[in-house]
Amino acid sequence: MISPTSPKLKQVSTINSDIRSGRASSKSAASTASSSSLSNTRNNRSPNPPTKRYSTHDISSVPQSPEMSNEQVFDLMEKEQDKIVVKMTREISQLQEELKALRAQANSRSRRSSSISSNASLEIPRGEPHAAATIRRSSSSTHTHQVPQAQLHELAQENAALRHENEALKREIESLRAQLRNPVCIYSSSLPHYTTLAVDPPVPFPQWLTDFTGLSQWPGLDPPYVPLDFINFANVPAVPQHAQAQCATLFRDSCSFDCFNCISFDDVYTCPQLSQTFDDGPSPATIKLLDHLSSKSTFFTLGVNVVQYPSIYRQIVERGHIVGSHTWSHKFLPGLSNEEIVAQIEWSIWAMNATGGHIPKWFRPPYGGVDNRVRSILRQFGMQSVLWNFDTFDWKLLDPAYSRDEKEIYRDVTKFRQANNNQGLILEHDAVIRTVNIAIEVNKILGPSQLTVPQCVGGIDYIKRFN
Ligand SMILES: [Zn+2]
Repeated sequence: MISPTSPKLKQVSTINSDIRSGRASSKSAASTASSSSLSNTRNNRSPNPPTKRYSTHDISSVPQSPEMSNEQVFDLMEKEQDKIVVKMTREISQLQEELKALRAQANSRSRRSSSISSNASLEIPRGEPHAAATIRRSSSSTHTHQVPQAQLHELAQENAALRHENEALKREIESLRAQLRNPVCIYSSSLPHYTTLAVDPPVPFPQWLTDFTGLSQWPGLDPPYVPLDFINFANVPAVPQHAQAQCATLFRDSCSFDCFNCISFDDVYTCPQLSQTFDDGPSPATIKLLDHLSSKSTFFTLGVNVVQYPSIYRQIVERGHIVGSHTWSHKFLPGLSNEEIVAQIEWSIWAMNATGGHIPKWFRPPYGGVDNRVRSILRQFGMQSVLWNFDTFDWKLLDPAYSRDEKEIYRDVTKFRQANNNQGLILEHDAVIRTVNIAIEVNKILGPSQLTVPQCVGGIDYIKRFN
């Protein structure tokens, strides 16, 4: 969710010109051929595609106590979520305190050992278990003390244990921070009762996917790479892998959006009208957003959430919105190998196909992480990157490290609308109720005169639809 700040978008005269002129559709049609292996896979493996028409679910079909209204349920979700954020923040503070105490303890130990001899370095002779260790002054070796080796071993062991504990705590703090930043985890791990609220059981693993992959269940957060005959790694440029915000090894010709705000010819990053887009869902909070949106929008969904909340996903589509892919599990793609990138994309497509009966055309890279290597793979799938030219930074509200609040967001959105003459692609999130509430207010500010991403560029909604 972390995106480049203030995207100062590179002027490229050819940006989207072919898309706007309608060539995108023919291009899409051409790319459909390359990506049709996916479609064929489904068709070949499943000669009788499911004829079941999914009924429209609404919150009234959600199992809940009869005395609770929808609004009450949403309020409850909101309060629960706030409590979790507070709890996690407190846990982080506690862990930080613990870490501090451990550090102090470690320091006092090292002071104690160094008090044996100031400026001394410890040397434990190897291979001489009964020999005494020597503590030698660092300045010269003119003076030595003899210290029992058992004591030194004890100290060394204690230090190692403390270091180990320290590292474990650091990892725990990082993971809690990540959970705060990534609401997907908040939903899937901490709010099991929302899962029961979330309408129906996860989407079954389809037989055609078992036939193709040999697997029988949806993968975890690191999906396995399944080779596809239409993906040719020989055509993928050798852009070095890089971790998020580690741009030193990257050249400008990588056209990295996360490092250089670089936009390529087929990236979508703005719109002739306003266009709200929502990442990281579907989630139970998405239902509230659907109930309040006055315009058609584009939802970039995570495969793990699609299979977990299938009927919410279908509601998005049935209410006339467009769904695109946001990977399987929200990984920063430029940091992955080619095979891992393919796995993130293919599993998200399979999740959407199994749940909604379609193959997505539009792709939003998590954290804006896209460069020419990632694009090359995306194009082989027949997909295009969708970036943005206005980030609401709504996710910052979920991270206590930032002090952004709702008012700031509404003020920035209003300014953006005025400065950009009612044009632009806006980045928001629908994984938690707090950002959904913001999205509803932003929708009021921007009004109903909005376009979906394919409408923005005159492109197709999906590469293929099966029902
Ligand atoms: Zn995201």
